[in-house]
Amino acid sequence: MVMQLQWRAYRFVLQPPMLTASGPWSERCGWLLRLDDPQSGRLCWGEAAPGPAEHALCAAALSALPSELSAGELNDQLSTLPGPVAFAIGLALAELEGLEGDGWLPAPASAVLLPAGGDAIPALQQSLRRHEGNASAFVAKWKVGVLDCERELHVLEQLLEQLPLGAQLRLDANGGWDRVTAGRWAMRLQQEPKLQWLEQPLPPRDHAGLLALAKRLPVALDESLRDAAGVPVGWPGWLVHKPALEGDPRPLLQQLQIGAPRRMVSTALETGVGARAVAHLAALASRGPTPCAAGLAPGWGASGDLASPNPLLVWEAAGR
Ligand code: MG
Repeated sequence: MVMQLQWRAYRFVLQPPMLTASGPWSERCGWLLRLDDPQSGRLCWGEAAPGPAEHALCAAALSALPSELSAGELNDQLSTLPGPVAFAIGLALAELEGLEGDGWLPAPASAVLLPAGGDAIPALQQSLRRHEGNASAFVAKWKVGVLDCERELHVLEQLLEQLPLGAQLRLDANGGWDRVTAGRWAMRLQQEPKLQWLEQPLPPRDHAGLLALAKRLPVALDESLRDAAGVPVGWPGWLVHKPALEGDPRPLLQQLQIGAPRRMVSTALETGVGARAVAHLAALASRGPTPCAAGLAPGWGASGDLASPNPLLVWEAAGR
């Protein structure tokens, strides 16, 4: 049974640009996938939302894909495709197979994503005002490794001071620290009750360094999940999944459905098509044995019709 694949490029501006340890990111580009199954008349959707470094690789993979393939042929191709393209196809196939069950679950509570650098302080104050009276459920995430270490540690003290009792902070170094810098932060944070975790403090290849840090304080791995170096054997900490970058989402969907522990599901700043699936996976994680705030970066992704939960509206908006 042959299905038709149509891809449509989209782009939107990240406003303000997202500052990360690997530089500023100001424009989000990707592709929507519309999968038509003429046999059943069903229309299923996917999205390829690569980071800037993988964009060219995904573009090449898309241009090499035929526009008509059977579900079996699509499944056979998945392992050879870049992660974001395999996610798009796997997601459309998941929908074709009805794996969302009774419907896509709504997004669970998410951590607030603070801007990097000193701008985090007023942003935290603003977010806390919005969450007044509910501090125990408040989690903020702050990207570090952007300023120099001294200035950033100074901002950290102010953030911790602002956080009420029960609220928590995640710090994300995006693998940008060396062992000396990570050690300085660990020294400050290892007894800090307001720290939820350090996210990817060291590059994925430094397994020994990551395992040693995880003995001192809570550590979550993010980039390690998508790096050739992989997750260290026996990793005791959290795993931050960005499903849109990790290929076919069906295995993760199954793991979360049976209650895999210490998983956090995070956005890669998708449109409404990818976000619908990411929210579903995050909701499954929040119903699992170790619930925690999801990483859905509220307010940072697409807006308007591109952010719609209705894939047809997203498709139309991408074409404008
Ligand atoms: Mg991260």
